[in-house]
Amino acid sequence: MERKGPETVAEAIRRGLTLRCPMCSGEAMFEGLIWMRRSCGRCGFHYERGPGYFLGSTYINYGLTVLFTTWTWILCRFVWGVGRWALIPGLAIFSVIFPVVFFRYARSLWLSIDCCLDRQGSMEERGG
Ligand SMILES: [Zn+2]
Repeated sequence: MERKGPETVAEAIRRGLTLRCPMCSGEAMFEGLIWMRRSCGRCGFHYERGPGYFLGSTYINYGLTVLFTTWTWILCRFVWGVGRWALIPGLAIFSVIFPVVFFRYARSLWLSIDCCLDRQGSMEERGG
């Protein structure tokens, strides 16, 4: 099966949010809630690009968590005048739960965007 990575970053984000292979969009990257397959069963693309590869996905996860909590804080506190002790418990819980829920999406987005920006590297055979 011929592999064709995402052509634009917008397409990479769209493919990443589907949690499917970024090269063929054919197969789900994850089995169940947490376990990521080693490679795509349809096109053979290896998801694990190398040791520590998915460390970069934590930047997406952390960045979005900080962005959401910061903007929620600014909006609620300074625009709508919500008290800080009404905000802190909710945002603290959000900051713990969101990264866990978004874990799969962060990995999928990281891989898909990398396939878009590093076309040559993403075509190399890896894994085993
Ligand atoms: Zn595939």
